[in-house]
Amino acid sequence: MTPDNPSLLEARIARARDTCRSLGLDGLLVCHLPNIRYLTGFTGTAARLLLTSDRIVLLTDGRYRSVVQTRQDGPDACPGLTLALADAGYDHATAELLRGAEGVIGVEAAHLTLATWLSISQGARLVPTRGILESLRIRKDSSEIAVIREAARRLSAVAEGVLADLGPGVRQTDVARALEAGMWRIGFTKPAFDTIVASGRDSALPHARAGEAVLVPGDLVVLDFGGLFCGYAVDMTRTVSLGEPSDEARRLYGAVEAAQAAAVAAVRPGARFVDVDGAARDLLVASGYGEYFVHGTGHGLGLEVHEAPRIGPARPTESTEGMLAPPEPVRLEPGMVVTIEPGAYVPGFGGVRIEDDVLVTDDGHELLTTVDRVLRVC
Ligand code: ZN
Ligand code: ZN
Repeated sequence: MTPDNPSLLEARIARARDTCRSLGLDGLLVCHLPNIRYLTGFTGTAARLLLTSDRIVLLTDGRYRSVVQTRQDGPDACPGLTLALADAGYDHATAELLRGAEGVIGVEAAHLTLATWLSISQGARLVPTRGILESLRIRKDSSEIAVIREAARRLSAVAEGVLADLGPGVRQTDVARALEAGMWRIGFTKPAFDTIVASGRDSALPHARAGEAVLVPGDLVVLDFGGLFCGYAVDMTRTVSLGEPSDEARRLYGAVEAAQAAAVAAVRPGARFVDVDGAARDLLVASGYGEYFVHGTGHGLGLEVHEAPRIGPARPTESTEGMLAPPEPVRLEPGMVVTIEPGAYVPGFGGVRIEDDVLVTDDGHELLTTVDRVLRVC
């Protein structure tokens, strides 16, 4: 599957130019690799990109000369792309490139080090910006949606297989490796993050990874895993019980399950991010677990596993003073893909999280991950 054919890249480049123009910029220096990939399809691990009204120059090093050539001439060519080589080092080559650019050039403040800023800013009119390309990436186009939908289908298949085999006596790391092996087998290029398998008391730690502990009857086990498929990330969590769950474990699970269902049901165009979060949070508060829900309800998915939008409670808006930035959306729109993953973590007892990937459609939502949410007893 190719999420970046020439006509899609052309449309993205045109929208990026429109956004720059609306902010009064004559160009944008792009340093964040997912943003470069979004505009050009380039998948290398080192590059910078200068986008102006009439040029799109990819700066990379000799290792990627052939990759760039396919992006210039191949069937997936990026329209108008020219190549510059950073043989004398990236900062030096970037400074050269900027000296030849006219007008005010935006830089991605979140993705440029202070050292680079200092070495490239002489002789150029640079302005810090924030979120320009991220504001485009937040809504997926049709080919991105097709890739993410297929990735979620495959991740669900992996989960079904591993959960069906799960039982006491294996180590957390064994289960993590089984999930990752399943992802490799089914076509993912790599895990999207360190796989989490947290059992027993570890399940009460939202940041737990997978360790040497052995799964034993009575454990709640949180499994959070995801992979990259054709460049796009999907991410899901299920919590299972090893053996018959206690009444307290059932109550905890039921509360998180209801909260997750309420937040998924709230996903539709026009819904405010804070209200989707509130749909889950209000139920957990009402069932007495509010203080144990210590993170946001979800995050965007795309070329990065954590990207805009943030589905969480209201918090003070970060200052964009001194930076040019497009307005930040506060509501869901068709084409956004988000996770819905409330959890509750009771210290010393255990935790539950349930996470699905959800596409915002024109009139509601489509659940992309499909594994059953009823408490599974393994
Ligand atoms: Zn996750
Ligand atoms: Zn997630």
